[in-house]
Amino acid sequence: MQNRIYSMDNPKAIKAQGFGWLNAIHYMAPADLAGVGNLCPAASEGCKALCLGWHSGQAGMAKGAELNSVRATELAERKAARMGLKLCVRLNGSTDIVWERIRVMRGGVEYPNMMAAFPSIQFTDYTKLASRFARPLPANYSLTYSRTDGRDVDALRLLSAGHNVAIVFSGERPRQWCGVAAIDGDAHDLRHLDPRGVVVALAPKGRAAKRDRTGFVWRPLRELAVAIATP
Ligand code: SF4
Repeated sequence: MQNRIYSMDNPKAIKAQGFGWLNAIHYMAPADLAGVGNLCPAASEGCKALCLGWHSGQAGMAKGAELNSVRATELAERKAARMGLKLCVRLNGSTDIVWERIRVMRGGVEYPNMMAAFPSIQFTDYTKLASRFARPLPANYSLTYSRTDGRDVDALRLLSAGHNVAIVFSGERPRQWCGVAAIDGDAHDLRHLDPRGVVVALAPKGRAAKRDRTGFVWRPLRELAVAIATP
């Protein structure tokens, strides 16, 4: 089901229902594709190359996104109630907007952010902006750092501070990465249910990700050497 900006019928969102959650994922044109600034300020070359392939067809609703989001979230909240499910909203399905700092109006009242406007809804996101972990987040907002090419140092620093880090791995899901336990991140997208301080291991999605040579997809050194040597 699409309610203009939320997708609730992609494979991961459907898996969430088995856990008692309606997972609504908010897609917009990533990076600078909408032509109104950059919605992914920390995007790497690798992630942009792969993400644009997946999301280049999404509507470029950047201006007024917060107004659309309030209305769409109210509708999603009602749908979840009708289905007897809890609602989990992922605002940055294909962007990296600092939502905790965007004020919204709901019912004529101004709130510091979407999380404050909808305190009974769980929000989750992935982000490549390590700086977002420097301040406390709203209690109903779970943020997972998304490791990308050239950012292993940030990933390790955030893991040691007790945050979670999502990593796309090339082969079989490892049991640990750099000594930190790895969990299966593809079982669902309900990241707020994950234990803290773990690696969230994801499989590459699509042919481009499987053939990635930018370093966005993490490979063991031996496999990396073979990949680089293969034309
Ligand atoms: S992977 Fe994330 S940061 Fe990179 S372009 Fe896509 S949404 Fe933006």
